[in-house]
Amino acid sequence: MHEYSIVSALVDRVQREADAHPGAVVQRLHLRIGELAGVESDLLHTAFMTFRERSVCAEAELAIEPVAAAWRCMRCDLPIAPGAVLRCPSCGRPAGLATGTEIILERIEMEVRDV
Ligand SMILES: [Zn+2]
Repeated sequence: MHEYSIVSALVDRVQREADAHPGAVVQRLHLRIGELAGVESDLLHTAFMTFRERSVCAEAELAIEPVAAAWRCMRCDLPIAPGAVLRCPSCGRPAGLATGTEIILERIEMEVRDV
């Protein structure tokens, strides 16, 4: 499943970050996920609960911030209003997606405990 491969890569990446900080315990991960990224937040949570076991994320929470899709003209950078025709009102060029497809690990909160 798509969400499982995302979480697997995510936990690997956090593991590498945490390895640089001996004694670090990951508290929380902040993700930004575009509404058009094709990711179900519920499934991502479920996958995370599975993958975090016995990983550096075992005690971590997953915070997901949804990002709305936004369209802009690719030529004059004019924003296209939500629900409007996906064509630039100024130059007539087709609009392109500015945001909404991203999957970003924005922040990792870690606590360093004595080892
Ligand atoms: Zn334009």
